[in-house]
Amino acid sequence: MSLKARLARQIAASGPITVAEFMGVCLHDPEHGYYATRPALGADGDFITAPLVSQMFGEVLGLWAVECWTRLGAPERFSLIEMGPGDGTLMSDALRALPRIAPGFMAAADLWLVETSAPLRALQAARLADHAPRWAGSLAEVTGGVPMILIANELLDCLPARQFVVTARGWTERRVGLDKDGNLVFGLAALPAGLGFPAAPEGSVLEVSAAQGALGAEVGARVAADAGCAVFVDYGRDESGFGDTLQALLHHRKVDALATAGEADLTVHADFPAFAWAAQGAGAQASPIIPQSTFLARLGIVERAEALAGARPDHAPVIERQLHRLLAPDQMGTLFKAVAIHSSGLLVPGFED
Ligand code: SAH
Repeated sequence: MSLKARLARQIAASGPITVAEFMGVCLHDPEHGYYATRPALGADGDFITAPLVSQMFGEVLGLWAVECWTRLGAPERFSLIEMGPGDGTLMSDALRALPRIAPGFMAAADLWLVETSAPLRALQAARLADHAPRWAGSLAEVTGGVPMILIANELLDCLPARQFVVTARGWTERRVGLDKDGNLVFGLAALPAGLGFPAAPEGSVLEVSAAQGALGAEVGARVAADAGCAVFVDYGRDESGFGDTLQALLHHRKVDALATAGEADLTVHADFPAFAWAAQGAGAQASPIIPQSTFLARLGIVERAEALAGARPDHAPVIERQLHRLLAPDQMGTLFKAVAIHSSGLLVPGFED
């Protein structure tokens, strides 16, 4: 039975489900979920991410991690964590040069990969075999008690969100239900009065991701207790606001999320303000939310591109195109943003004003 058919049966029996429940099942259902069964990253797959655009992305994040470690006082042991490492490209680019240029950092690091997808764990194991990573299914499973340095690219966007919509009758919640022929459809369910949502024009959509908030609180509590810093890079908003950002991608094309349940990557924008606020509430400090272009430029990606192009002049046009894709405002430069969550008193590289 397909995931669509199974969801239809479940909804017929127990009623419509929230958009967050729908996302969670489509991404992680053990039998049919996209990440559980068929994640396809890269040019030949369904979607492309910054580390797959260019090795420079991972390389400057590796240097970022070394600088964080130095500023943390070069602890003798620390956890180097990536959440949602995809096919392992980012971390493998990050670590490539470090045994040579930062042996102390490498000797002190315990590498952890927080990953829920079995097929992606297999790719990570192949690509990162030299670095003896350990895997965890959640941050809570990563042993604490030592400082942590954490990197996550395009993780927040796959954490489920609920959607609330203003109608003439007031605020409602968007749910996935069934039409008269038994097909999955979006519908709107009334909400109890007095929930305290702001007044907004009819048609406004508010997305609320409890999972993004919970992760912000978890990361915040961890760095507050153990010291450390985390950087989250994602596409999303730097101010609270309205908008329907649910998107299903298959072979780099936007497709109908309901028709492709379980077959496509499904995302919402990262809600950076809510994420940072949750981390602060758990005792951490949060940096300003800055564009990806600002973050990468401060980490020296332009100089890195020049060095690579100098060493391989025949590759210069390709490197120039990759840099443009990561930095240009009409490409990934401003839609993608970065935030750091860190223990108090730490100046996180790339986020100093
Ligand atoms: N960071 C990689 C991959 C991004 S795709 C890159 O930039 O190329 C999203 C990644 O997050 C995948 O590895 C996916 O399996 C993982 N993921 C999704 N939900 C997760 C969760 N709840 N916990 C941990 N990892 C998750």
